[in-house]
Amino acid sequence: MGIHKTDIVIIGAGIIGTTLSYVISSLSNAKVILIEQESKAGVHSSSRNTGKVHAPFMYDPEKKKSIAKAALFGYEFWNNYCRIKRIPFKEDGIMEVASNSEGIKTIYKHLEWGIRNGLDKKDVEILDKKDVEKIEPNVNCQTALVCNKDASVDYGEITRALANDANRNKVNTIMNAKVTKIKYSQKSNEEIYLKYAKYPDTNEKEIQCDYLVNAAGGSSLGIANMMGIDHDYKSLHFRGDYWIAPHKYNSLTNHSIYSIPEFQQFPFLDPHWILRSNGNREIGPNACPVFSQYGYNTKTNLKEFLPRVYEFVKGSNIKWVKNLLFKKEILKMASSEMLSSISKRHMISRVKKFLPSIKPKDFVTKGTSGIRSNLIDKNGEFILNPIFLNSNNTLHILNYNSPGATGALSIGFALTFKLIENGVIKKDKEISNTHFREKLIMDCIKEVKI
Ligand SMILES: Cc1cc2nc3c(=O)[nH]c(=O)nc-3n(C[C@H](O)[C@H](O)[C@H](O)COP(=O)(O)OP(=O)(O)OC[C@H]3O[C@@H](n4cnc5c(N)ncnc54)[C@H](O)[C@@H]3O)c2cc1C
Repeated sequence: MGIHKTDIVIIGAGIIGTTLSYVISSLSNAKVILIEQESKAGVHSSSRNTGKVHAPFMYDPEKKKSIAKAALFGYEFWNNYCRIKRIPFKEDGIMEVASNSEGIKTIYKHLEWGIRNGLDKKDVEILDKKDVEKIEPNVNCQTALVCNKDASVDYGEITRALANDANRNKVNTIMNAKVTKIKYSQKSNEEIYLKYAKYPDTNEKEIQCDYLVNAAGGSSLGIANMMGIDHDYKSLHFRGDYWIAPHKYNSLTNHSIYSIPEFQQFPFLDPHWILRSNGNREIGPNACPVFSQYGYNTKTNLKEFLPRVYEFVKGSNIKWVKNLLFKKEILKMASSEMLSSISKRHMISRVKKFLPSIKPKDFVTKGTSGIRSNLIDKNGEFILNPIFLNSNNTLHILNYNSPGATGALSIGFALTFKLIENGVIKKDKEISNTHFREKLIMDCIKEVKI
C-alpha cells in the first residue's frame, strides 16, 4: 500500500487534539488526520481529572493571563456545547476556604485576580464565618470565597462528543495507532513522514503530511524529542489519586470546596471536596511523583523506574537532578504528597480540616487516578504555563495542564485562527458552521493570546 497523504496530522485524541481537529475542520477544508494510540478518544488525562470548569480566580493575571482568559471563556463554550449535546453541565459553584491569616490574605488576592481576569463582581464574593455557616453549615473556616461561575462536567464524554463532530466534518480518525517515528523529507523541511504501528496489525504504516500538531499530552515532550526539536525542558509526572465518598455524604455540601494550597509555588492544589457531574462526591487529587505518564499502577511504575533514572542521570542531565533535589520545598511537597498516596487517612485528613464530620474509615472505594506531566526548566523550576512551540511546519503543545480541559475550546479557536493567519490553512467556511456564537469566538481570540 502507498503512503497516505494529508494536509495536517494531529497526534493525540485527548481533549486538546480532538478540539483542534473539530475547530479546524469546522472552518477549513484542509484534510485532517487525528491519530490516537488508544481505542477511543480522551482516555488519559482528559478522562482522569476532577471535571471542573474552573473559574479563573486562582490564576495570576500577570503571569497566567492566557490560561485565565481561556478558562473564563471556557465556561460559556462548555455550557453551550453540553446543552447542545445533552451532556450534564452542573452549575454547582465553588467555595475556597481559609482558616488562618495567610490564607485569608490569599482569598482576598484571589478575589482581585478573579475580577481582573474578567469574572463579574456578582459572580464572586467573600463571606465571613457566619455567612459561610448559613450556606454551608458543615464547612469549618474563617473566611471563604464563593464563585458561582464554576461547574462540573465529564470531560471524557465531552472529548468523545467532539470526536464524533470532527468525524462528521470528515476528519479521518485513526485509533489504536501509536506514532513511533517522525522525520522530514530529505529533499525539504516541508514534507513530514510519520510511521505508526496499528494494533493489532504488525506492519508499520506511513503518512505524509504538510503540517504536524503534537498534542500527545504526557508524551508530547517525547514526540518533540523524537523530532530533534530544540528546547530546555524535562518532564516530571505526578499522579493524582481520588477517594469516592459514600452516598451518605452526598448532601454534605452544595459546592465543591477547595482549601488554600500549602505549597502555592507549585502547580498543584491540595486535595479538595469534589462534586462530580454524575452526583458522586470525591476527595482528591494529591500529586504523588511517579515514573511514567501512564504510571497509574505499581507495575507500570516499576517497569519505568530504571529507564527513567537512567534518562535523568546520563550526561548533562545530572545538573537538572541536582537543581531539583536541592530545593527543600520540592522534597517537602513530594514527601507529603507521597504520604497522601500511601495513606488514605493522611489524604482525607487534609479535607477533614475544613469538613470535620467526614471519617476516613467511611471511604472504601478509590476513584480514577490521573497523571499530570509537568515540565521543569534547567534550574529545576516548574513551568507554570502551557507551551505552544512552533518549529518549521510543526506545532508542539507541551505542559498542557490544568485548567487545560476548561480552556480547550478557547485554545482550540485561538490556535486555529493563528494557523489561518500564518497561511497554514485557509478559512473556507463560516463561523456559523461551528456550534458557537460569532461574538463569543471573536471576543475569545482577541483575549486569548498564545
Ligand atoms: C488529576 C488531574 C486533575 C485535573 N483536573 C482538571 C480540572 O478539574 N479542570 C481542568 O480544566 N483540567 C483539569 N486537569 C487538566 C486536564 O485534564 C488536562 O489539561 C487535559 O486533559 C490535557 O489534555 P491533552 O489532550 O493534552 O492530554 P491527554 O488527554 O493525555 O491526551 C493525549 C493523547 O495523546 C495520545 N498519545 C500519546 N502518545 C501518542 C502516540 N505516540 N501516538 C498516538 N497517540 C498518542 C494519548 O493516548 C492520549 O490520548 C486535570 C488533570 C489531572 C491529571
